[in-house]
Amino acid sequence: MKREQYIASTTDKEILKKGECGGVVTSLLKFALESKRVDAVVAVKARNGNRYDGVPVLISEPGKVIETAGALHCTSPNIARYVKEYMDGASGLKVAIVVKPCDAKAIIELAKRNQIKLDNLILIGLNCTGTLPSVRAEKMMREVFGIDPADVSAEDIDDDKLVITLADGTRKEKRLTEIEEQGYGRRENCRRCETNIPIMADIACGKWGTSDKSTTFVQVYTEKGADLIDAAVSAGYISVTQPEPEAVQVRRKKDDDAIQMAKRWQERDFSSLKQMNINQRFGYWFSQFARCIKCYGCRDACPICYCKDCHLEADRGLVPPGEIPPDVMFPMVRITHVMDSCVNCGQCQDVCTMELPLSRLIFLLNIELQDIFKYQPGRDIGQLPPLRTVTDQELSLSGVDVTF
Ligand code: SF4
Ligand code: SF4
Ligand code: SF4
Repeated sequence: MKREQYIASTTDKEILKKGECGGVVTSLLKFALESKRVDAVVAVKARNGNRYDGVPVLISEPGKVIETAGALHCTSPNIARYVKEYMDGASGLKVAIVVKPCDAKAIIELAKRNQIKLDNLILIGLNCTGTLPSVRAEKMMREVFGIDPADVSAEDIDDDKLVITLADGTRKEKRLTEIEEQGYGRRENCRRCETNIPIMADIACGKWGTSDKSTTFVQVYTEKGADLIDAAVSAGYISVTQPEPEAVQVRRKKDDDAIQMAKRWQERDFSSLKQMNINQRFGYWFSQFARCIKCYGCRDACPICYCKDCHLEADRGLVPPGEIPPDVMFPMVRITHVMDSCVNCGQCQDVCTMELPLSRLIFLLNIELQDIFKYQPGRDIGQLPPLRTVTDQELSLSGVDVTF
């Protein structure tokens, strides 16, 4: 299909005021519910008004959608896992879900594993150049910006700057590189993330290519997305115009710049690991794994880990019960199970009690596998994960008769 692009804006004054840029996402959610295209929507809301505590919410009343308006950068809820675990893969529900690129990629990987029913979902993507770990973000507000975290009314990542707006309208900004050198700023996986525009969603929304805060740049990627936008325009929920060529160029340039920034972080984080020989690599990672306390946090958070009957449970016999640190096969099995499909969401590392740099290892392995198998996780729904797929050629090389 033709990939339509729009400069769009909500027609609802209240949503425009509360929304981040143009209020289009909130208006699309409201329209989807009121037109009964979906039974519910999933978006992120600040729990009890605390912007450092963003939680996924399932909403079926259109009037409540506005509670999710505005962006929350100091939180990174595990949307794919939420849909899989708590909504039974969305089961028979039709749902519109607001997703970051890593959420969209994880949802697609779960759909390939029959854990999520993609046909019932509309993925409304948000451009993303990073989220901040909530506890450290509050500390950063105090120690780096010199402000009370509760006074922050908005935060934004604008090119290579983190921009904070206070309740009284005061703006403060710092360069990302400067605060990240000090151990603050974006989550480690986000710094390396090259997928800023969710091209695997039905539509992608963001501020790149817009000139003010009253508009959203919308790119349509699927028929489902096109249908939603056309219907919302016809029903008067949003208005759209065609972007000028300069706006398209600006958006592309911002994306390119963000990709280059991510590559610089990859180079920095991975170069010493890449220079190690195989024994040094094993030595380094085994010393990390020796700190594991087998809390199962990484397994339980990872959207790609989906087996109901996990090999790592003590009663399966692979890893003896009660042994701390667990046998090195414990992390190794999990890594081999997910490394071809890791979407670099960082959820494993966020929950690791021992602060092991898990996503650094698994994403590095994933990049190396991408070179070998040409498989990009979370992109093409028709392409299956290489380590879960056996080709006829591989079967015949193994001596198994493949003639049926
Ligand atoms: S991993 Fe990428 S898409 Fe996900 S929150 Fe971080 S920057 Fe955004
Ligand atoms: S291994 Fe970690 S970074 Fe990769 S998909 Fe799983 S939770 Fe996300
Ligand atoms: S989250 Fe960390 S400590 Fe817990 S099992 Fe995973 S690697 Fe081990």
